[in-house]
Amino acid sequence: MNASFILKAGREKSLRRHHPWIFSGALERIEGTPESGDTVAVRSADGKTLALAAWSPASQIRARVWSFDPQACIDAEFFRSRVTQAVALRKALPAAQHSNALRLVHAESDGLPGVVVDRYADVLVAQFLSAGAERWREPILDALVEATGCEAIYERSDAEVRALEGLAPRTGFARGDRAAARCAIVEHGIHFRVDVEQGQKTGFFLDQRENRQRVRALAAGRDVLDCFCYTGGFALAALTGGARRVLALESSAAALAIARENLSANAFAAERIEFQQANVFEHLRGLRDRGAAFNLVVLDPPKFAPTAAHARNAARAYKDINLLAFKLLARGGLLASFSCSGGIPMDLFQSIVAGAALDAGAEAKIIERLGAAPDHPVALNFPEGDYLKGLLLLRD
Ligand code: SAH
Repeated sequence: MNASFILKAGREKSLRRHHPWIFSGALERIEGTPESGDTVAVRSADGKTLALAAWSPASQIRARVWSFDPQACIDAEFFRSRVTQAVALRKALPAAQHSNALRLVHAESDGLPGVVVDRYADVLVAQFLSAGAERWREPILDALVEATGCEAIYERSDAEVRALEGLAPRTGFARGDRAAARCAIVEHGIHFRVDVEQGQKTGFFLDQRENRQRVRALAAGRDVLDCFCYTGGFALAALTGGARRVLALESSAAALAIARENLSANAFAAERIEFQQANVFEHLRGLRDRGAAFNLVVLDPPKFAPTAAHARNAARAYKDINLLAFKLLARGGLLASFSCSGGIPMDLFQSIVAGAALDAGAEAKIIERLGAAPDHPVALNFPEGDYLKGLLLLRD
């Protein structure tokens, strides 16, 4: 028999809206003795079962919902079905025709809280980031092999959030084995190498795929500045699109080494691009002082505000780089400015960028709003999943 998670009176509202997270403050009492990751029946104060969820005793998010159907059976077959559905959705996406690297499982938005799976050619990279995900790791791995035919799964359960769930980090091949964990992928005809062992996140920023295509389509004849370039995603897209020259800035030497490999893996004129190891904040000031000018700037910084609590400091950082970007942007130039901070909603981001333009003495208009690629869906009941936002701006 399942243990029960009894909610405090009046705390069932978010569950009725099918939000999958139940915070510790909503817990009245636990009936039974569930272990970390076990399934619990979530009951309202008046005894009605509202959901089946994974118990996570160490986390502020004390339970994550697997199903809002009280009759559901949370077993290996349940996970097989969720994984199969997630993989089928990606097969049907246009992006699957243009890239052999896709996000296959996007956690809460695919009904699998704590589970992230990216495909890089014939290798999968999986993250199990919550107590419930950890509990069902084996059946999920089996289901992934079955649904994709991929025999190699590299595990990158080394994200910091695992500590909040009371879980130790784990990395290594969970299925199959390979000497080298460097994968070769092709995205819209551009070749990239992905370091699944040491790279950031699972190795590549798949969420920016379609935005890299936007930049490529707009790059012809432009002087491009790609800030926070990682392994060169936007920079190489701009080159492919016919940029006149590209300057790409990144602080990580390891990322830049792969960026240079990526440059060699494609038939580009290397003299049109310069990768430079630099702190973007300082380097943009230097460029401004030297009077440099570009007509396409990409700002794709790391997550400055993981949660709303970090929003104030993050806002300052976003304002700083956007202000500098406007100063470096020639009239008629384009700025693609992104934030992947869950703690900064679109309206706040837009007002930060507006303030930056004002202080830089630039007039600009939004010509497009950008978000994560469609293999990163956002469940309507989980707005937190809508983390990546971008503005494509034209300077008058
Ligand atoms: N645009 C990239 C992804 C960028 S991720 C793509 O399409 O693949 C953000 C990058 O910013 C990371 O590679 C990180 O190493 C780098 N970074 C973080 N802080 C930085 C700083 N102050 N200056 C330069 N790069 C920085």
